[in-house]
Amino acid sequence: MPILADCHLHSHHSGDSTAPMQAQIEAAISHGLTRICFTEHMDFGFPYEKYADSIPPGTFDLDVLSYYEEYLSLKEKYAGKIRIAFGIEAGLHPDYAEEGKAFIAGAPYDFVIGSTHLCDENALLRLKDPSVPSDYCDPYYPQLYDKMSDEDAYHCYFLTERACVLACDWFDSLGHLDYVVRYGRQKEEHYSYAKFRDLIDPMLEAILQRGQALELNTAALSKGCRECNPCTDILRRYKELGGELITIGSDAHAPEKVASDLTAAHTILTSLGFRYYTVYENREPVQLPL
Ligand SMILES: [Zn+2]
Ligand SMILES: [Zn+2]
Repeated sequence: MPILADCHLHSHHSGDSTAPMQAQIEAAISHGLTRICFTEHMDFGFPYEKYADSIPPGTFDLDVLSYYEEYLSLKEKYAGKIRIAFGIEAGLHPDYAEEGKAFIAGAPYDFVIGSTHLCDENALLRLKDPSVPSDYCDPYYPQLYDKMSDEDAYHCYFLTERACVLACDWFDSLGHLDYVVRYGRQKEEHYSYAKFRDLIDPMLEAILQRGQALELNTAALSKGCRECNPCTDILRRYKELGGELITIGSDAHAPEKVASDLTAAHTILTSLGFRYYTVYENREPVQLPL
């Protein structure tokens, strides 16, 4: 069966999208999807002070009430045409684990993606000297790669992400696990699962132990990468460890990206032997056939 659900979508309720919710829904219907889930950004501990020129403070704070009200009206309007779920993409931070948990408990989400959008630039230094303080940046911006090689930046990111995942157990699916690779100067050139296995495996083991899913995010394919996030070797490892819950999303911030590369996702998953993909309803996994 083709993949008929896109469970990672943004709209104007996210600080980095201007897409009307209705346009995202219409795009999904035009691709023949039967289900979608909006997953608007809410980032905890974002270092706005570093990006004062380009990102106004609070950009990645979510106005849940206005999001929920528009969601409810559109869910009703499109009933019978497409199932629309209410989700959130929580930007994880190890120092905001409790705040994140409390925020998530504040609304009736169907689905919570936990994503690491930050990178502690001092994570490698701290391995040698634990007294060095953390210094979080957004690896989307090139400044990080001016300071260090891609490989060191990825190393810092995975150290940060491992701390995020171990500190926060309240999400449903681990979002775009190797997301940082989209933004390095040479992207996948100096990257492989094998290089960072010691940091990636504990994250996979943690989500497996907690019954959480792993997301297959297709956005990287249209950003000049050869592979999705995470790369195929990580998906293979997840399966090897017994993982069966894979959520799928385009991470579309605009209508033309909705449902992008779902066919590629299907090919990857079936070639690895997965027989189902996962959607969430009321925070519970539902398996759909591939
Ligand atoms: Zn994200
Ligand atoms: Zn996203």
